[in-house]
Amino acid sequence: MKKHLLILLVLVTLLSCNTNKKENGKLDIVTTTSMITDLVRNIGGDSININGLMGSGVDPHLYKASEGDVTKLVNADVIFYNGLHLEGKLVEVFEKMGSKTKTPIALGEEIDKATLIGSDYFASNYDPHVWFNIAYFKQFAKKVTAVLSAKDAKNASFYKANETTFLEKLETLQKKVIATIQTLPEDKRILVTAHDAFNYFGKNYGFEVVGLQGLSTATEAGVKDVQNLAKFIIDKKVKAVFIESSVPKRTIEALQEAVNSKGHDVKIGGTLYSDALGSAGTIEGTYIGMFEYNVNTIVNALK
Ligand code: ZN
Repeated sequence: MKKHLLILLVLVTLLSCNTNKKENGKLDIVTTTSMITDLVRNIGGDSININGLMGSGVDPHLYKASEGDVTKLVNADVIFYNGLHLEGKLVEVFEKMGSKTKTPIALGEEIDKATLIGSDYFASNYDPHVWFNIAYFKQFAKKVTAVLSAKDAKNASFYKANETTFLEKLETLQKKVIATIQTLPEDKRILVTAHDAFNYFGKNYGFEVVGLQGLSTATEAGVKDVQNLAKFIIDKKVKAVFIESSVPKRTIEALQEAVNSKGHDVKIGGTLYSDALGSAGTIEGTYIGMFEYNVNTIVNALK
């Protein structure tokens, strides 16, 4: 609590003396999750400076701003974040960031609320894992283009051209994903993971999705949850369950043990990238690569 207050104090102090000017004339952009960082990099290219706060394997539900982050946030021209209460511990910082010249932009707020999956768990009342709907991610891209173009009109046509290229890539991704999933029989489309990040994925591609820890990783799975889910896996003859890169794997291993102790063999089907991308420089280190990697991993393990 004390540290939290200190960060807010630093924030207020920095806000009152923020007279920095840009060294290279480029917009300074701060992003939260690695999915959003990758998206903004696709649109902004070399015309922006980008500072992604959350790297590979970082859990956005639990992420707290460091003092270094606060400095980056204060000095940013634009801040893009997911919103819908995904970045649960950063909300307060973002609320304090608002000013006449700068508004942190919650990309998730661009989506028509009537199409979102409801959730009692989050203060937003919606499931925030919206990037697993490619159509929503396209909306994110359009919003980012609009914001960058408004702030940096001289590069507007560059941003627009990048948007067009990226939207085409997302369209290709969507077609590939659908084709791969069609090879998996419908009765095998049951996705059991560490936490409920894949509800939008499930809704779009016909999977029943069960997360051991519920929607957020902020609550631990109990013994009863493990036993209930073990029974479900046996009843439905599920072949594999999945670890997530940003959630400790012990919960899924406990689930596997519970299932196997009852005489049903369930495998760990691999690691999925849910709330963070893979390491920079790998295929899973981009949104498109991550999506394809997840789909291939899921389909191969459940076939
Ligand atoms: Zn999550």
